Amino acid sequence: MGTTSPHKENAIDLNEYSGYLIDKMRLLEERNNILREQKEKIEFEKQYVENQKLKYEREVRELRSELEQLKTTPMLVGTVVDTLADGRVIVSSTTGPQFVVNVSHFIKQKDLLPGTRVTLNHQTLVVMDILPTSSDPLVSRMEVCESTDVSFEDIGGLNEQIRELKEAVELPLLKPELFSRIRIAPPKGVLLHGPPGTGKTMLAKAVALATNATFIRIVGSEFVQKYIGEGARIVREVFEMARKKSPSIIFIDELDSIGAKRLEVATAGDREVHRTLMQLLSDMDGFSERGNVGIIAATNRPDILDGALLRPGRFDRLITVPMPDDPARESIFRIHSRGLNLSDDIDFDLLAGLAKDMSGADIRAVVMEAGMFAIREGREFVDLSDFKEAIKKIRESSKKEQFRVEGMFI
Ligand code: ATP
Repeated sequence: MGTTSPHKENAIDLNEYSGYLIDKMRLLEERNNILREQKEKIEFEKQYVENQKLKYEREVRELRSELEQLKTTPMLVGTVVDTLADGRVIVSSTTGPQFVVNVSHFIKQKDLLPGTRVTLNHQTLVVMDILPTSSDPLVSRMEVCESTDVSFEDIGGLNEQIRELKEAVELPLLKPELFSRIRIAPPKGVLLHGPPGTGKTMLAKAVALATNATFIRIVGSEFVQKYIGEGARIVREVFEMARKKSPSIIFIDELDSIGAKRLEVATAGDREVHRTLMQLLSDMDGFSERGNVGIIAATNRPDILDGALLRPGRFDRLITVPMPDDPARESIFRIHSRGLNLSDDIDFDLLAGLAKDMSGADIRAVVMEAGMFAIREGREFVDLSDFKEAIKKIRESSKKEQFRVEGMFI
């Protein structure tokens, strides 16, 4: 009584023990899972750290090579002037003087044509490499349009000038046989001269459109300011590009900045301008087989131009572009008002009379200002009073500008 059999006791022990083992196994499995997860996490982290290591190694390599590059001595840029029989070449460096130098063995002699841009070792000035000329950023920054959007119909007045320009530039480009048949040489360069804003640039652009020519515009003052030490080379490359892209028209605006009379060639700046001018003259002289390239220049100051520019074979056709007269002003008003919504009271003849002494550029500004007045009034059309107000405003602002400019010179 009251006692359990030893068999039963054993059975309970076994049950308990196997329960204990199952719990233990579950715990171990859980632990195992946790460890596996931790292992995966650590492996992932290891992978990440290895990647980081590779990344930093790459960065170190890049920084090292950057450092190497920063430490390398700079190369000078020069231009080949001539090649000598013994294999050496004459180069002019961008700083001015010319040197006779040796050439690296890696460069083929035949590639060193005069005008080629090269790099020079800064100590020995040995020619180290040839630079590409076609991708010269200075030249590609010029205004070059395959075709312009100004036609002769957009120009008010200037009928006589248009006729002369067609004769001097359009005919030689479009019908060169007419000149060769009669055996006369077409004018080489045309110089448009007259007050600012009278349509000189427009005329050049319109000829380019009429002849389907590439329009290349270079501005004299920019040559002097931006391309110091490079003016002569740029002139040569512009002519080269014009030949490649022919038919083309080279338009040299503000010719007086490079072509003013040579009084005392004193400062380095003067010498540089002089070099640019000489290059321009020699390019024009060497342009006998110029093919389809027309040269037009413009200036407000023909009186200060160097006589050498005006000799036959250079700018040998002078065309005066005057301030517009009454009928011309009327037609300029009409041209610039073409797209505007106008009231019926607009009298262009009257406006031309009111805008006496105004240039084409002033009239264009008047038309734009009249449009602004109408917008300010909340109207959908421009009326005569807007134009009158605008003429007054433009006149005043140009007077102020004149005072400012005169003040600068006092
Ligand atoms: P600058 O000597 O200052 O360079 P420019 O004589 O070359 O002046 P343009 O640049 O041709 O003058 O003219 C400036 C603007 O004035 C033109 O874009 C055009 O809108 C207007 N303009 C000048 N003259 C005329 C004209 N005869 N007919 C129509 N518009 C004109």
